[in-house]
Amino acid sequence: MPHTVETSPAVARRRVGIMGGTFDPIHHGHLVAASEAAAHFELDEVLFVPTGKPSHKSQVTPVEHRYLMTVIATASNPRFKVSRVDVDRDGPTYTIDTLRDVQRLRPDADLYFITGADAIAQILGWKNSLELFELAQFVAVSRPGHELRTDGIPADKVAVLQIPALAISSTDIRERAYEEKPVWYLVPDGVVQYMAKHRLYTAEEIDAI
Ligand code: ATP
Repeated sequence: MPHTVETSPAVARRRVGIMGGTFDPIHHGHLVAASEAAAHFELDEVLFVPTGKPSHKSQVTPVEHRYLMTVIATASNPRFKVSRVDVDRDGPTYTIDTLRDVQRLRPDADLYFITGADAIAQILGWKNSLELFELAQFVAVSRPGHELRTDGIPADKVAVLQIPALAISSTDIRERAYEEKPVWYLVPDGVVQYMAKHRLYTAEEIDAI
C-alpha cells in the first residue's frame, strides 16, 4: 500500500445573503430578489431580517405579525431563514447593527446584503455608511420604477443584478387590502391567509399578538 499524506482541502467560506426589510407585508418582489441573488452569488443561505423599529417609517404593523408573515413566506425554501436580530434589539433599527449582529452569528461567512434600487440609492445616508461596506458586499437589484444607480459607492463593494421585474410594493398591498381588492399572487398564499385571519391592513382592529 503506498503511503499517502492526508491534506485537508481548503474550506470554502460560507456565503450568507441578508435580505433586510420592513416586510409589511413580505411579497413576491422580496422573494424573487433573494432567490436571484442566491442563485447568482451561490449563496449558502439567505437570512431575511425583518426590521424591528424602522428608523425611517413611522406607522408599521406590530413586528411579531411582520416576523410571522416572513416565516410563512420563506418556509418552503431550504436556503431561506429568518433572523430575529432586528426584532429583538431595542431602539430604532440601523443596518450597521444588523450587519454587526449577523457577523457575530456567522463569523466565518462572507456577507452579501441585498437591496432594491430604491434602497441602494439612499445608502450613503445610512448610519455609518462607510463601515457598512467593510462588513458586507452589497447587491443592488433592479426594481420597476426605480433607476438602479450606485454613484458614490466604492465599485468593488457593490454588484448590480438585473432581476425579473415585479412591480409589487408593500404599500400597494396594504392599500389593496384596505380597499378589499385581491392580493392573491402578489404575496404567498399563506401570507394572504395570515393577513385575513388577523385583519391586517383593514379598517377593522387587528389582532393583538
Ligand atoms: P413599502 O412599500 O412599505 O415601502 P417595500 O415594498 O419597498 O415596502 P421593504 O420591506 O421596504 O418593501 O423592502 C425591503 C427591500 O426589498 C428593499 O431593499 C427594497 O428595495 C426591496 N424590494 C422591495 N420590493 C421589491 C421589488 N418589487 N423588486 C425588487 N426589490 C424590492
